[in-house]
Amino acid sequence: MSSLDQDQHLLLSCRDKTTVPTDSSDAPELAKHPLCGLKLASHAVLEKAQQRGRLKCPKCGGSRMFFCYTCCSLLGVGLQEIPSIKLPVKIDIIKHPNETDGKSTAVHAKILAPSDVTIYTYPCIPEFEKDKVVLVFPGPGAVSVQDMMQCLLDRTDGSHDEPCIKRRKSEEVHGATHTAKNSETGTPDEAKGCESRVYPLQRVVFIDSTWNQTNKISSDERLQGLLQVELKTRKTCFWRHQKGKPETYLATIEAIYYFLKDFHEHCLAQEYKGEYDNLLFFYSFLHSVVNKSMSEGKHCKENNLKKT
Ligand SMILES: [Zn+2]
Repeated sequence: MSSLDQDQHLLLSCRDKTTVPTDSSDAPELAKHPLCGLKLASHAVLEKAQQRGRLKCPKCGGSRMFFCYTCCSLLGVGLQEIPSIKLPVKIDIIKHPNETDGKSTAVHAKILAPSDVTIYTYPCIPEFEKDKVVLVFPGPGAVSVQDMMQCLLDRTDGSHDEPCIKRRKSEEVHGATHTAKNSETGTPDEAKGCESRVYPLQRVVFIDSTWNQTNKISSDERLQGLLQVELKTRKTCFWRHQKGKPETYLATIEAIYYFLKDFHEHCLAQEYKGEYDNLLFFYSFLHSVVNKSMSEGKHCKENNLKKT
């Protein structure tokens, strides 16, 4: 356990920055540790659970640690011991049935924000309202999170896709200069204010599957009419590298996190103060554990990943 403690120390001692620069050239060190500086609840409960080892899930009988990814329930960890996060918008995750549950990070979101996250197993997906729902998936017609709200409004106004695609890159430059207005009055408790600001957006859809299967789901005709939103390029720190998958292909929990962060700043127009960092509560812990075992072999990469 001492090596694990070192990892925790490493995470905590990193520079306090919550933003991952998209251009890593001026901050290569920071880009290597994208999980640094997160405002996370204490991992002590996970360390303790890890020492105890795996437990048998009472529902499905599977051998699990922390939570059962099949049943979506905690195991050996109390609900009050882990963070609970309220999200500003509902999240729907569509899972491919062939996706190995144990590899999926979608369940992290469901466990940490149970009232705002729903997981569907493809092909069982609901009917989405085209002018109130967006799909986070890259593509030629995808817009940035910044432009998303205006595009949705354009849709409800009856105008079509064209204008927002043209507008797409126009505001990108101003993104970094955003400052929160009225931070005293703009508390998250002002549910009404938030609702009107996010109108008409009601749900955000993410696809949770391997790189190859994702395309099949995204081309499902039930998702075709949805406005597609893409995240600014962020490098994944996912430890399970998938063959042929670009480094910018995020784990589902990372994608949800980065989306919400952008959403908070650009759509709610509030300064981001780590509100959703705890979505990475399990992810960062598992990442530090795997990183630890990797760093034992120093510069190891794919070869050592297979051992984990
Ligand atoms: Zn289970």
